[in-house]
Amino acid sequence: MTLPALNVCPCGGASTAMKGKGVVLALADCCGRFIEQGQLPPDALYLMRSRYTAFVLENEAYLLRTWQAAFRPSSLAFEAGAKWLGLEIKDFVQTGVKEGHQTAEVEFVARVRVAGKANRLHERSLFVCEEGQWQYTTAVNMAS
Ligand SMILES: [Zn+2]
Repeated sequence: MTLPALNVCPCGGASTAMKGKGVVLALADCCGRFIEQGQLPPDALYLMRSRYTAFVLENEAYLLRTWQAAFRPSSLAFEAGAKWLGLEIKDFVQTGVKEGHQTAEVEFVARVRVAGKANRLHERSLFVCEEGQWQYTTAVNMAS
């Protein structure tokens, strides 16, 4: 698979990763390193951003391989015509060690438009690091 040459990574492409500030990175220099080149995201925040980008690119293989096996679905269905509008990171915390594995949480708001209707996804995603690879496990819906 070849990624389109996007000047700004769908995740916002911020080198500082937190608030969308800082140097703006192209896809190839941002999430593309993980999605296409197989580099390992150094922390759960980078993984979160790359998974958002993979949703934008509808890269099912990447989403599944970064999903911890115990929680991973057998396949993913992408909403037809969904247009992802942006990712905003609200919080990122390393939450310690559980059963010998580092854990972390990332809270975010992602905006998506489907069939002309704007939706706001506000979730806190939970991650675990196994053998040096951060993996997504599950998420808590933060919408009130
Ligand atoms: Zn990115």
